[in-house]
Amino acid sequence: MTLKGKSAVITGSNSGIGLGVARELARAGADVVLNSFTDLPEDHALAAAIAAEFGVRARYIKADMSNGNACRALVDAAGGCDILVNNAGIQHVSPVESFPAEKWDAVIAINLSSAFHTIAAALPQMRKRGWGRVVNIASAHGLTASPYKSAYVAAKHGIVGLTKTVALETAQEPITCNAICPGYVLTPLVEAQIPDQMKTHSMSREDVIKKVMLERQPSREFATVEQLGGTVVFLCSPAAEQITGTTISVDGGWTAL
Ligand code: NAD
Repeated sequence: MTLKGKSAVITGSNSGIGLGVARELARAGADVVLNSFTDLPEDHALAAAIAAEFGVRARYIKADMSNGNACRALVDAAGGCDILVNNAGIQHVSPVESFPAEKWDAVIAINLSSAFHTIAAALPQMRKRGWGRVVNIASAHGLTASPYKSAYVAAKHGIVGLTKTVALETAQEPITCNAICPGYVLTPLVEAQIPDQMKTHSMSREDVIKKVMLERQPSREFATVEQLGGTVVFLCSPAAEQITGTTISVDGGWTAL
């Protein structure tokens, strides 16, 4: 399976799932644009390492996904976007009545509105180039809910709705739009939730991992960033040409419960 000659933009890809997705796309031959809101030597070094390891073009472009114009500018700066992976995301955990309004706004902007802006900027490029794949990294929380995650669950359900709408608007073109719904993947985002969850549930780290996080995941195993990247590569393959407007769960059976 080769994606040689295709250009991929992966938002929020200097760590975790985004970086894993970028690496698997590059392994399949795609040129990749990494992104986050920082502009550190380490960010550019990640792109250089991918270029060296997989023999593709890899660049890092700074853009803050909480800003709609910056989202659109990222896609424009990529100078060609065949594959768009909307992955940037943040989490905040709090009961709804004390959920800080600015955190609500940030979660909705980064996890949901950013995808609206990048897709709007990418579709004309995909149409011009005659092929396109949009993959939105949603969550098991795009299909089910958990307490204390109101903004995240709302944003992830929203991105599933956006996915379906874009798929219908592009259904008769060589463009697909799908969402991947991971269960728990041990990334910095999940690591950062553990202290909050320990406080909320008055539990040890081990108990939070086993009894709160992986309790919902029947496999009792975290999904890996390589598995997520492999699923994105599959959605870019000829076998997936008629897969559009749907969700693929990579959650160890969570949403089967
Ligand atoms: P992570 O914290 O490792 O990665 C998040 C990425 O988003 C980072 O690269 C970060 O720099 C970037 N980011 C954050 N704010 C940004 C901004 N304003 N502008 C640009 N980039 C920004 O977390 P992750 O677990 O790899 O999460 C990636 C995606 O996967 C998120 O959308 C998350 O909701 C989703 N997800 C994760 C899990 C999990 O268990 N880890 C499960 C389901 C869904």
